Amino acid sequence: MKNNKKILVVDDTEVNIEILLNLLDETYDVFVALDGQTALDIVDECTPDLILLDITMPDMDGYEVCKKLKANKKTKDIHILFITAKTDEDSIEKAYDVGGSDYITKPFRPKELLARVNRELQLQDLKRELKFLASTDPMTKLYNRRYFGKISDHILDLAIREKKDLALIMLDIDKFKNINDTYGHQIGDDVIIELSNKLKEQQRKSDIACRYGGEEFVILLPETSLDGAMIVAQKLKREIEQINIKISSSQNLQFTASFGVSEVYIEKEKNLEPSLKRADNALYEAKESGRNKVCFEI
Ligand SMILES: [Mg+2]
Repeated sequence: MKNNKKILVVDDTEVNIEILLNLLDETYDVFVALDGQTALDIVDECTPDLILLDITMPDMDGYEVCKKLKANKKTKDIHILFITAKTDEDSIEKAYDVGGSDYITKPFRPKELLARVNRELQLQDLKRELKFLASTDPMTKLYNRRYFGKISDHILDLAIREKKDLALIMLDIDKFKNINDTYGHQIGDDVIIELSNKLKEQQRKSDIACRYGGEEFVILLPETSLDGAMIVAQKLKREIEQINIKISSSQNLQFTASFGVSEVYIEKEKNLEPSLKRADNALYEAKESGRNKVCFEI
């Protein structure tokens, strides 16, 4: 039976490709390339889970292909298993140096190759899971604060480089302590989860929403001006007002949130601290002046 893993086989010798295809085709979706450039093009299109890569090829050898993949943020995590007739120590060392995960020499035993392929795929699954766990808030499945800090640096760099707008929304559930005290923590959790689902549903593809603290959230909005972020925040405010949480057959809970909006001054700010501070001040103002409001600070 096939699983949904994609494997790219790269070898300039057709007969080798055929052998590997026969071995793997039953279990995996296999793509093939007879040269390095074609391999890179295919990777761009299909993002394989694993690449079996021949070292000796004309024009661009396997090392070169591997280096290019490792230098690209989009492809650097794809595992590469070198398959080659080279058995000297230098070649093996170089295979690891350029970023290969493992190495198998031709002629290989089919069962060994399958076992190694399987192991690489399992390792990659594990890595992905770890990465997900490390970056995600378990309750809401939004990004956690730690990951937000990491990715926001990249987004700020990009905004600076491309001279694009960048804005921030900070929001906080109103009277959250009251909700917990009145209805219990389970309902409090439901409120946080429902609000998070609303953020996920409403966010544009490039927006980064994170759970910043207990009942506090931050959204980073690339290519968005202060005015644009105000509109997004106003819409979110209305959407959150519409959320209904069933407490009992006769009782529903509704709640609101307050919002602070700021823009990032990309010409002079090297990190998000100042804009987070402004958003936080604006959020404070929204709370102080009655809650369920959107305020901004310039
Ligand atoms: Mg070859």
